[in-house]
Amino acid sequence: MPDRSYVNWPFFEDEHRDLAHDLDAWAWENVRPLPEAHEDTVDELCRELVDRLASGGWLDYVVPERYSGRYDPLDIRSLCLLRETLGYHHALADFAFAMQGLGSGAISLFGSQKLKDQYLPAIRAGKRIAAFALSEPEAGSDVAAIETAATEEGDRYVIDGSKTWISNGGLADFYTIFARTGEAPGAKGLSAFVVDADIPGLEVAERIPVMAPHPLAKIEFNGCRIPKENLLGEPGDGFKIAMATLDVFRTTVGAAALGFARRALDEALERTSSRELFGAPMGELQLIQGKLADMALGVDASALLVYRAAWTRDRVADRVTREAAMAKLHATETAQRVIDEAVQIFGGLGVTSGHPVERLYREIRALRIYEGASEVQKVIIARQTMKEFSASANQRVSSKKADP
Ligand SMILES: Cc1cc2nc3c(=O)[nH]c(=O)nc-3n(C[C@H](O)[C@H](O)[C@H](O)COP(=O)(O)OP(=O)(O)OC[C@H]3O[C@@H](n4cnc5c(N)ncnc54)[C@H](O)[C@@H]3O)c2cc1C
Repeated sequence: MPDRSYVNWPFFEDEHRDLAHDLDAWAWENVRPLPEAHEDTVDELCRELVDRLASGGWLDYVVPERYSGRYDPLDIRSLCLLRETLGYHHALADFAFAMQGLGSGAISLFGSQKLKDQYLPAIRAGKRIAAFALSEPEAGSDVAAIETAATEEGDRYVIDGSKTWISNGGLADFYTIFARTGEAPGAKGLSAFVVDADIPGLEVAERIPVMAPHPLAKIEFNGCRIPKENLLGEPGDGFKIAMATLDVFRTTVGAAALGFARRALDEALERTSSRELFGAPMGELQLIQGKLADMALGVDASALLVYRAAWTRDRVADRVTREAAMAKLHATETAQRVIDEAVQIFGGLGVTSGHPVERLYREIRALRIYEGASEVQKVIIARQTMKEFSASANQRVSSKKADP
């Protein structure tokens, strides 16, 4: 029986406990039996998962209250519980859910009423599939290096350039994209737009096969003319919009990693209690107990960081840059180690293609790279920590001066 005692932690309300319980029951029936995705079936499986998530009502959680009747604007603890639970059962279910959120998050947070009305109900109903297109061949970690350009022309913007590593690339019905509008050099000269996938000039240049199959592609924009009203926020707000969206969704990447790690731990516990080694259950070997202890400790520490960040964003502060970076960094790095130990515990079975821990071993790897690689999270944490230290040092100095 998986450990669900964490839902009693003080970060959660009764509605969260109900959500975790109901979703888990739903996922056992609707997600767990689905097959593993392969390159040639992954788009179909993703569409099926989006349909199922919409029918189950779970996509209500990725759009604000007016469109879902639930939360306004987005309840991050719910998003994290959803990603953790879906990730526990089937990584592609988590992916399908997360992309509906990441691809539409900037519209929920910064879109005009018209854009919200136009896109959010369809996201919630699973009728439109969303994507978030920030990365470029020469601008991954270094977002300020974005070259895709959006040029004003009458009542339109004309988009030219390319984006790569775009999840749902080729499958999406629209893309939230970030392009250079040139108000200032670097990060301050970027803007965010919504671009429909069927617009003339938008092409899927290449599908990118990866170690754990997901719809992933390189997209090209050749003179794509979009209405000016598809701008999100103000011209020059693009970097701020990207970072605010990632602030929300980075914590949820940590939650997905937590779900993967919890599944690996549960698989390992099952194995160590049923497998006999040297005439006794494997779990009686103290070296195995040491592994299980490290895995359980890592899972709980990740959960504390993930739900601390989510609770802080829901209840205390609009921006949780430091907390979200800590949650993502710790949960993804820890999940990699926990899953690796689970593979070790399973021995030869653990590296057998399609075994749950072998799948998790491939699924977890990209989470340490996307939405800011681990090294980028460390830089964020260090900068925020230094900033807070110097702010409190300045405060001490000014209160000393004020003290006669
Ligand atoms: C499966 C997958 C899905 C993705 N989905 C999307 C998507 O939907 N939308 C989107 O826009 N992008 C997406 N990406 C792109 C992802 O965000 C980038 O791959 C990531 O930001 C890293 O950029 P890069 O690949 O260009 O690597 P680079 O920027 O070249 O970085 C390479 C490595 O350098 C190291 N590094 C980076 N910065 C520092 C630093 N400051 N100090 C020290 N070391 C550093 C890190 O180890 C990093 O992995 C996805 C990527 C993958 C793998």
